[in-house]
Amino acid sequence: MDLTRLEEIIGKEPSFRKKQVNLAVFEELIETWSLAKTLPLSLREVLDKECPLFINAQANISKDSVKAVVELDDKARIETVLMMHKDKRNTVCVSSQAGCPLGCSFCATGRSFKRNLNVWEIVQQVLFFARFLKPKRVTNVVFMGMGEPFLNYDNVIEAIKIINNDLKIGARHISISTVGIVEGIEKLAKENMQINLAVSLHAPNDKLRSSLMKVNDKYPISMVLKAVDEYIEKTKRKVMIEYILIKDVNDSDLCAKELAALIKKPLYFVNLISYNPTGIFSPSDRIKAFKKILDDKGLPVVIRHRFGRNIKAACGQLE
Ligand code: SAH
Ligand code: SF4
Repeated sequence: MDLTRLEEIIGKEPSFRKKQVNLAVFEELIETWSLAKTLPLSLREVLDKECPLFINAQANISKDSVKAVVELDDKARIETVLMMHKDKRNTVCVSSQAGCPLGCSFCATGRSFKRNLNVWEIVQQVLFFARFLKPKRVTNVVFMGMGEPFLNYDNVIEAIKIINNDLKIGARHISISTVGIVEGIEKLAKENMQINLAVSLHAPNDKLRSSLMKVNDKYPISMVLKAVDEYIEKTKRKVMIEYILIKDVNDSDLCAKELAALIKKPLYFVNLISYNPTGIFSPSDRIKAFKKILDDKGLPVVIRHRFGRNIKAACGQLE
């Protein structure tokens, strides 16, 4: 849907229409304007023609997760994943770009890049699963799907505002994961939003990190962590450091000790992620041993629960 066109049409209507439209789309979760009973028939007809609510997505359902492949107007395809936790949380993992230009060596998404997503293309991923789950609700949203959110900063922030204000998902339940685009971290610190920040580190020194992630040449670890320190200083919010464990690459005891020395600071915590196969590399079997070293050093650390590997919907497998 073209949100600007929607605003144009609603802008010509009495001011209470906007609220009626938001209620119908984001709370009643109507799938066609003909169901928007509070709107006059003529307006519904115009909206059905000019701003269709149809989302062109195919769902692939497994036991605890659902992957949806969304086809956009220009035929670009993106993927979005719903994770249904045992504790009743329903988390949607959204994409911010079609593909990703950063090409990290372990990530299938980074093998091609098409374009940034617009605001509606981001919001509709959450809306799709809100409709799917009804009467249950989406409780959390993570920007950990395809793409680097901070390379599409303005649209991501605008989408978060809609997800927060209209879909009524609390800011504290929304997270952005970045590879460490420093300007994005700096801007987010100034937004005064209560959302969560996660940073993909994956290596405790520049040599190793650059060999896995080309982006480290532009934003080396010291620059990224300086931005994180300033973010924490300003927002007083916790920051999650993501670390994928890849066999014989970054999973040694030495790496764990180096990591602990690097980031043992207030409000930092580590999320250990097992590597999901994408062609090269193998998953590490040392995740517990690695965690123990961080635990012993007093660094808060959790192991990420794995969803969706069997439907190729796990971290790094979206392509
Ligand atoms: N571009 C952002 C957000 C999308 S990726 C980022 O990189 O942070 C979301 C998470 O999945 C990141 O932590 C990323 O490093 C991780 N990831 C990528 N490929 C993976 C793989 N093969 N196995 C496990 N995690 C992976
Ligand atoms: Fe892009 Fe993130 Fe994948 Fe790297 S890990 S290629 S930044 S999506």
